[in-house]
Amino acid sequence: MSRSISHIVKPQTVADGAGVLLQRSIAPLRTNEYDPFLLLDHFYFRDPRQGEPRGFPMHPHRGIETVTYMLEGGTSHRDSLGNAGFIGAGDVQWMTSGRGILHEEMPRKSERGGVNGFQLWVNLPAAKKMTAPRYQEVTAATIPTLEKEGAYVRVIAGTFGDAEGPVQEIAAQPLYFDVRLDAGATFVQNVPREHTVLAYLFEGAGCFGAEQELIPALHLVAFEPGEQIQVETDTGARFLLLAGAPFREPIVPYGPFVMNTVEEIKETIREIQRGTFAKN
Ligand code: MN
Repeated sequence: MSRSISHIVKPQTVADGAGVLLQRSIAPLRTNEYDPFLLLDHFYFRDPRQGEPRGFPMHPHRGIETVTYMLEGGTSHRDSLGNAGFIGAGDVQWMTSGRGILHEEMPRKSERGGVNGFQLWVNLPAAKKMTAPRYQEVTAATIPTLEKEGAYVRVIAGTFGDAEGPVQEIAAQPLYFDVRLDAGATFVQNVPREHTVLAYLFEGAGCFGAEQELIPALHLVAFEPGEQIQVETDTGARFLLLAGAPFREPIVPYGPFVMNTVEEIKETIREIQRGTFAKN
């Protein structure tokens, strides 16, 4: 049976980092309503009068995974471990912070002057919050794209038909697809019944859920439990489809850290103050 819609979220424009304007659909809260998903930001600039977009200067993370997916332009990054690189159009960086890194993320415009991309934060279970940091860097060419009856699906994580996404061994067992539908197409995907499922519609309009409610971009749709997701469109649509296993653990978010207890957050702040954070 197709899942029903539980919430429709209109993203809020917020400023973060060094004044980067974002469309933020969800942010970390103790209520952890979208467990295991904590945050979803869409950064989008196409104003020729604007200069180079501002970025996110050196900042820490602990206890989460940050997932950057670029559609246009890119993001330069470097971290306290000596890693550095560029996430270009179509590329994905799945960064497992574990016990900690400090990093810098700087969006860069395309030659056409645009930047379009997403950052998702996925929680880590208590047993993995203090693991060693890990990166999965996926280039556009290694992401399988399948076409099925007018649905073009880029499979970043999880399985669509015969295609398996290149991102592997993530605690939340995620599905992360970029789905583009031609006008008149229908998309159907089976999902584990109890996994949290979100769809972020960023182009066009589509009918979502058992209700077949017509939703225009930009909106996030959250679903009730169930075995299947169905989306239809008359005009064409493009959306991220995200699914993951909830951990059902208490969380304490504090800025760029998400831990399970207040004491763990206090310990993290003590390490930052002493200068020992991300030093081992
Ligand atoms: Mn970051």
